[in-house]
Amino acid sequence: MISSIILTSYVAGQTENDCAPNDGSLTIVTQTQAPIEEDCAPADSPLRDRPDRFFKPVNSNFTLTPQLYTNFLPRDFTLAYSPFSPAGPAVLNQQAVRRLYEFSTPQPLDQAVDYTLAQGGLLVAAGQKPTLTRGHPLTLTAWLHITNACNLDCPYCYVRKSNEHMSEEIGLKAVEAVFRSAEKNGFKAVKLKYAGGEAALHFKLVQRLHRYAQHLAAKKGLDLRAVVLSNGTVWTAAMARWLVDSGVKLMISLDGVGAAHDAQRPDRGGRGSFARIEHTVDHILLPAGVRPDISITITGRNAFAAADAVAWGIERDLPFSLNFYRENLLSASYHDLKLEEQQIIEGMRRAYQVVEKYLPTRPFLGGLLDRVQAEAHTHTCGVGQSYMVFTHTGQVAQCQMHLGEGKPLNGAHDPLELVAHGSIPVISVDDKEGCRECAWRYRCAGGCPLETYRAAGRFDVQSPHCSIYRALFPEALKLEGLRLMRLEGYLS
Ligand code: SF4
Ligand code: SF4
Repeated sequence: MISSIILTSYVAGQTENDCAPNDGSLTIVTQTQAPIEEDCAPADSPLRDRPDRFFKPVNSNFTLTPQLYTNFLPRDFTLAYSPFSPAGPAVLNQQAVRRLYEFSTPQPLDQAVDYTLAQGGLLVAAGQKPTLTRGHPLTLTAWLHITNACNLDCPYCYVRKSNEHMSEEIGLKAVEAVFRSAEKNGFKAVKLKYAGGEAALHFKLVQRLHRYAQHLAAKKGLDLRAVVLSNGTVWTAAMARWLVDSGVKLMISLDGVGAAHDAQRPDRGGRGSFARIEHTVDHILLPAGVRPDISITITGRNAFAAADAVAWGIERDLPFSLNFYRENLLSASYHDLKLEEQQIIEGMRRAYQVVEKYLPTRPFLGGLLDRVQAEAHTHTCGVGQSYMVFTHTGQVAQCQMHLGEGKPLNGAHDPLELVAHGSIPVISVDDKEGCRECAWRYRCAGGCPLETYRAAGRFDVQSPHCSIYRALFPEALKLEGLRLMRLEGYLS
């Protein structure tokens, strides 16, 4: 007879406890999918449990995690989360919750369910500060800035538009440079983002660079992933077929449906782009088997339209991410783009209501809240550690928003080293004032460093969007709990 039920999501590298006793409890672990595509490169060095922590010393006492967060779910299930959970939250039935709270009195792990609770970070060794070990990043991500050109004229864009584009020679050197750094620093995989401007305007160059990257990846025994970041307006059936044949993903920006999108993403003649994107997705991409990730940028202008964009994506079973607008030198004069806290929270809540109504079973937690990741991590993005940006002139920069701050490559043996110490310092959330004790710190990691600096003039403090994160993260967690229940048949 099954007594305890725990639903949770999987973290790569997490192992089952062979030696835990079988007491009839049921743990259902679902696998996470590849991260949802967005402009930035998420930190790829998640925190891990020490594998021996549950067994040594034998009979050591465990107790409830500090900052345990719980919430009610339907059918008497409970959502449980801890900052020290390596992955997302867990969903517990009444028996499992009862067992969890028995650890208010410290005691050794005994039943199989105890080990699952400990693996989920809900129980920690009594009298010791809970710790998670930082993993080595596995993937080196590089933004290849194919061109400054774009057929759209979005007010929040940080690219100074021109007809300039990367030459083939510079592109090939950039690809070589990425693989050099990957080898030198022990990365297992390379991820290329073909971006701009509108990278698809120079599709032959994208194809050429990708063929070369495939060649180098095979030669060096590294995995290769790639994505084209696009406005979704210039795709043909032949281009879509190439994506499928080459295993390259596509991310499309969509900021609303109809007029709401058009107001934020017009073409250079002032005409909207929504109809072209919808046609592309419905008549070119989906029929060819391309399922693009949808990136929704939330500004003060479209906060209330985000819900429609989410519904549009869910209707088509597309992964989506909700990202906050970042003010930049080129956009600062558009005052209606600025993020007004309450307006953003309300707009995001409407979007969450849509998610709850349709409740997709594909993992979505990593896309629900700007820069937040489902797995525990200490840095918001890979800047300075596992991320490089190559400008169209072949310079290397820390972040795509710093295209003007590139350093010449000059045949550097390890280009990653050139961006390890730039104007954006590499700071762990544990070293950010205001974040150190926050329950959400290993998911939010303090938000985008550039946004923090813009608002506070320093990097080592909490995000200017902290109140938004704090208001919405519990709601995002609850949606993940509902998703797990639906996935496993506990909700229809
Ligand atoms: S920015 Fe706010 S929500 Fe995010 S980790 Fe810091 S204190 Fe927590
Ligand atoms: S610094 Fe900000 S904009 Fe740049 S990659 Fe990191 S999170 Fe993204």
